[in-house]
Amino acid sequence: MKILVLNCGSSSLKYQLFDMNGETVLAKGLVERIGIAGSRVKHKSASRGDTVRECDIPDHTEAIRIVLDLLTGPDTGVIKSLDEISAVGHRVVHGGEKYSKSVLVSDSVISSIEECTYLAPLHNPANLAGIRALQHSLPGAPNVAVFDTAFHQTMPPEAFLYGIPYKYYEKDKVRRYSFHGTSHMFVSERAAELIGRPAKELRLVTCHLGNGSSITAVEGGRSVDASMGMSTVPGVLMGTRSGDIDSAVVLYLVEHEGSVQRVSDILNKESGIVGISGLSSDLRDICEASVEGNERANLTLRMLGRSVKKYIASYAAIMGGVDAVIFTAGIGENSDTTREMSLEGLEFMGIKLDKAKNEAVRGVEAEISAPDSPVKVWVIPTNEELMIARDTLKLTKK
Ligand code: AMP
Repeated sequence: MKILVLNCGSSSLKYQLFDMNGETVLAKGLVERIGIAGSRVKHKSASRGDTVRECDIPDHTEAIRIVLDLLTGPDTGVIKSLDEISAVGHRVVHGGEKYSKSVLVSDSVISSIEECTYLAPLHNPANLAGIRALQHSLPGAPNVAVFDTAFHQTMPPEAFLYGIPYKYYEKDKVRRYSFHGTSHMFVSERAAELIGRPAKELRLVTCHLGNGSSITAVEGGRSVDASMGMSTVPGVLMGTRSGDIDSAVVLYLVEHEGSVQRVSDILNKESGIVGISGLSSDLRDICEASVEGNERANLTLRMLGRSVKKYIASYAAIMGGVDAVIFTAGIGENSDTTREMSLEGLEFMGIKLDKAKNEAVRGVEAEISAPDSPVKVWVIPTNEELMIARDTLKLTKK
């Protein structure tokens, strides 16, 4: 059974075609600059090599037409006919309170995703554009929506409510949702397999540290607290987002910067790693600059490590202990410096890193805690696309 997975952004589209017999990737790629001059598609397949196609791509419908063409084309194709695609899984950023699991797309699901647009104004419209374009181009294939927020719907109200008048939750569902749920679910399930104990018995802190980052307390296989909020700004220091901030600072910025939009740009695009370092949002640049003695780069690393450490310790407190800490995503999988700085000083709660193992691990599954560490520490590469494909298979298998 072949399943196509789509992740649509406002001007981009990532795709992977899976053969679910063996969960192998047949082809994958990225469409960039949709609706902007200079659009192009980068298509990769193990059997047919890499292809770059530069052409006018005005909208998601055209992007998907080109992707389907590449998947079946005489020089680039990996399937003979589109009929071989049994179903399509879509990453959808916000499912609000309605969706705690993935669902088969129907008209009412589309309306619900539209209703959540006020919570994810940049993402949900792009995700819907992808679903609609697919329905148009591949009318016979069922579509499945896999929500970034779904895994966190198990958080109790004491975790998801803000300490503001309750009416704002009742009226407009102002609350913590948090994101990256598909990734936290994938690595927590994999952690249970690797540790060799049922997920139901485990207390995990999963650290998804990428350009956007979030940390989750996973108790008994369920998210019980998570660091992002109603938006993707809160939590740890991120590439361009501030992470946790005093709301009075936001009010101060609104007063002094003149407009809410300007402050939104500051908090979302100019803060975090790039804001503190003044150099780059890419942690590789910061690590290099720090080695060369750049003090602001060094400060950025210390702030990042400290913010991750606070969440690990506080989530251990929430769960009454922790069995394993998991690092994933670009920074979590690759930056031994960040992992070490995040765990330094946590020996008091049973976390003992094996420094040599930690330094050696980049982008592969590995245990990096010392053999006698009561709390295990693992690096587990995330695979949100595979998780989406698995859910799609589950919901569409006859
Ligand atoms: P993601 O959003 O998951 O793709 O992660 C992107 C982030 O991972 C960027 O900040 C990259 O700089 C960071 N990253 C990737 N490789 C490394 C590395 N070897 N060392 C430090 N950071 C890395």
